[in-house]
Amino acid sequence: MTSSKTLYEGKAKKIIKGPKKNTLIQIFKDDATAYNKKKHKIFKGKGVINNKISEHIMEFLKSKKIPTHFEKRLNDREQLIKKCQIIPIEFVVRNIVAGSIAKKLGLKEGMKLKKPLLEYYYKEDSLDDPMISRDHVETFGWANRSELKRIDGMSLKINSLLTKLFKKKNIILVDFKIEFGRLASNPKKIVLADEISPDSCRLWDIKSKQKLDKDVFRRNLGSLMGAYEEVASRLGIVH
Ligand code: UDP
Repeated sequence: MTSSKTLYEGKAKKIIKGPKKNTLIQIFKDDATAYNKKKHKIFKGKGVINNKISEHIMEFLKSKKIPTHFEKRLNDREQLIKKCQIIPIEFVVRNIVAGSIAKKLGLKEGMKLKKPLLEYYYKEDSLDDPMISRDHVETFGWANRSELKRIDGMSLKINSLLTKLFKKKNIILVDFKIEFGRLASNPKKIVLADEISPDSCRLWDIKSKQKLDKDVFRRNLGSLMGAYEEVASRLGIVH
């Protein structure tokens, strides 16, 4: 494992300096948190599985011409990534009602949406990541109109690609959260950043609707590692 000064430490990952200019190393931890850290637990090996699942998904998206920060997986827990300036917005795409939207709007979990719904949340833990509108994003300068237009397009494209990928594995992609950044080497270029894993997606078995994501932890539904291993194995990830 690389040992170097931590530049940033989040709930499930930390970032250290990379080997070359404009590179970083992203390290996947075993911590799981929910409800803005009110619930916290360590699942031995979660970071290793998420590193591999996220690698698999980033490689798949790259092969479909989605620009990403992902360079390569270095070992069980670490990925080499391109340095970017993260846009402080969580982009959530929903296909089916679940989680916060069910609660907020009094909707039944499982309701299929007529078309994918894109939401924006301002990344600020001290405010519990409030939901914001497109106008907020532009007004406060978090991203400009042209950037937002490109990000919206990429988010919907990612949704359609991942929906198909998971469907082939008998998994429904209910919703997910993604983040984008401006490349340090070329700030005009926006790339998909962060991770895509069962920590940041809702994934249901197509038949039984069994949850195969972090809701298992949020709602105490059984074995989180069992669920994540199931996703990895259906994606063909051997480890
Ligand atoms: N999500 C995430 N990080 C967050 C908030 C949400 O990865 O800080 C993901 C979550 O796992 C789900 C989707 O974004 O797949 C939508 O989450 P929701 O708004 O329903 O919030 P939740 O009730 O999961 O906190």
